[in-house]
Amino acid sequence: MKPAPRHDHIVGVDLGGTKILAAVYDAKHRLLAREKKATKPELGPAEVIGRIVETINEVLAAAALPHSAVAGLGVGVPGLIDPKGQIVRVAANLHWHDLPLAKLLTKQLRIPVTLINDVQAGTLAVRDFGTGRGLTDFVCMFIGTGIGGGVVTNGKIYRGAHGLAGEIGHMAIVPHDGPRCGCGNRGCFETVASRTAVVRRIVREMDKGRKSVVRDLCDGDASRIRSRILAEAYREGDELVREVIHDTCEYLGIGAATVINILNPQAVILGGGLIEALGDRMLPRITKAAKAHVIDPTPARVNIRDSGLGDDAGILGAAIAARAA
Ligand SMILES: [Zn+2]
Repeated sequence: MKPAPRHDHIVGVDLGGTKILAAVYDAKHRLLAREKKATKPELGPAEVIGRIVETINEVLAAAALPHSAVAGLGVGVPGLIDPKGQIVRVAANLHWHDLPLAKLLTKQLRIPVTLINDVQAGTLAVRDFGTGRGLTDFVCMFIGTGIGGGVVTNGKIYRGAHGLAGEIGHMAIVPHDGPRCGCGNRGCFETVASRTAVVRRIVREMDKGRKSVVRDLCDGDASRIRSRILAEAYREGDELVREVIHDTCEYLGIGAATVINILNPQAVILGGGLIEALGDRMLPRITKAAKAHVIDPTPARVNIRDSGLGDDAGILGAAIAARAA
């Protein structure tokens, strides 16, 4: 006779502006299955919620588990969440305001839901399962569409007076003539050092006539340029991609140095697709650039490392939040 399924599985969802990632974990946080689907935020919240539910149904089917085997669902959201983890206060990329997402998902799935900010979710995952294990004081920088920052002090996430600590992506680096940021300002850190910034610079240079293998690798469609394509071009020795990535490492080094000078963490831990794809090439350059801007740049002070989790940090962290709820 088959044993009855256990009821202590957890589902983690990473809700991004472009894709929904879902994974199911067993009681020991071992990954059983993962699925993804396009978010399509332009279709409105009801449609996006439907797509989240479908992704969860698919991931449970892939793991051959009924909904009743799931003790909790955690959803990482790119935005500001109420302190109880139930309502999305603001999610700018999704155009959501005061959406009771946890209640709406529970109604359809009959599973208790906990919401968490996506960057805080990634930081929890780095603390418990990534290269932050064993550390008490560190700062995460997730480099993707923007740049998210998570601060851990005494083993706990530091949220600040109003829950907004860690917005490292909006440090002003080139405030006067830098690119326009999603926040309305100019020259924020993420406008010069995110993957979006890297792609924008490469596309602009190609449009001016500079040659790059990126054009062939993306079949002439710039919207298809992702970290994997950038890594391939870099490894092939593409001059334009190397130049832009090396500049980006300088900026990331300046960002890391600022964090080190202010907080004196045990480590600055980098994550996100670009680092997953090119971290081995970028980390030495970022470290070198950081050393130039850190007061007393000893190796212990300038300890910059990869998260070790790649794209899974968000789903894993959402699952950790649901387990702790
Ligand atoms: Zn900004």
